[in-house]
Amino acid sequence: MRSLAFGSSNGCFEMIKIKELYVETESKEILKGINLDLEKGKIYTLMGPNGSGKSTLANVIMGNTKYKVKEGKIFFEERDITNLPINERARMGIFMSFQFPVEIPGVPTNVFLRQAHNSVAEKKKSFLEFQKKVSEESKSIGIKDELLERYVNEGFSGGEKKLSEILQMSVLNPKFIILDEIDSGLDIDFLKRVSEKIRNFMNKDKTILIITHHAKVLDYLEVDKVFMMQEGKIIREGKKELIKEIGQRGFN
Ligand code: ADP
Ligand code: MG
Repeated sequence: MRSLAFGSSNGCFEMIKIKELYVETESKEILKGINLDLEKGKIYTLMGPNGSGKSTLANVIMGNTKYKVKEGKIFFEERDITNLPINERARMGIFMSFQFPVEIPGVPTNVFLRQAHNSVAEKKKSFLEFQKKVSEESKSIGIKDELLERYVNEGFSGGEKKLSEILQMSVLNPKFIILDEIDSGLDIDFLKRVSEKIRNFMNKDKTILIITHHAKVLDYLEVDKVFMMQEGKIIREGKKELIKEIGQRGFN
């Protein structure tokens, strides 16, 4: 039986649990025995050199079938999701922003957002309700209305692409959020806006995993724990000091 101390609104503090995860793609082994526990109400950082497997881990948690799980399991709120398709994971409240957001010619951003919202939300919003929500959220992160009418990511600057990923996050309102290199290519102004949004978005029932290799965003955000990845393994974890250490000594 569970102790009384162990329990929040839905009876658990655990958001994600990964056990002995081995992942490969086209015969190349990328993740080599990942173990990871992420709790609710916390912001985590995953750092590591290029090619260490950070984006692969993000994609596997999201359910991208390009990557094959050879061994191990992924749990979300204590439910085994290892074999669930992407859309089911999204509906359960898992979200990832892409390191390289793709362009979708012919689909205006606001139309895309509404479709995405309707495909994951239990309660669909009317067109007007939805427009109001998107408009409020865009304002709060400094996205111009004009951008919402343009095709998804087409001709967006690097910063605008990242902001539009953050807009997607706030409109979909997921529980577990992976932000893959959200800080790369952002100038200070964008960085501040993104960090502020992440701070305001966060609450005790959400978990955010920020993947970064230069940790710029961490100048503006408090994180609870830092993981360091190398060659498909998590080799260290620590507090904020670890970020400073990596900053000074590099990943080695
Ligand atoms: P990171 O995000 O830490 O830079 P990645 O997860 O993108 O690392 O990549 C880890 C390794 O896996 C790299 O060597 C990369 O080339 C390889 N890799 C990633 N995705 C694929 C893929 N779809 N096909 C083949 N190799 C891949
Ligand atoms: Mg990456």
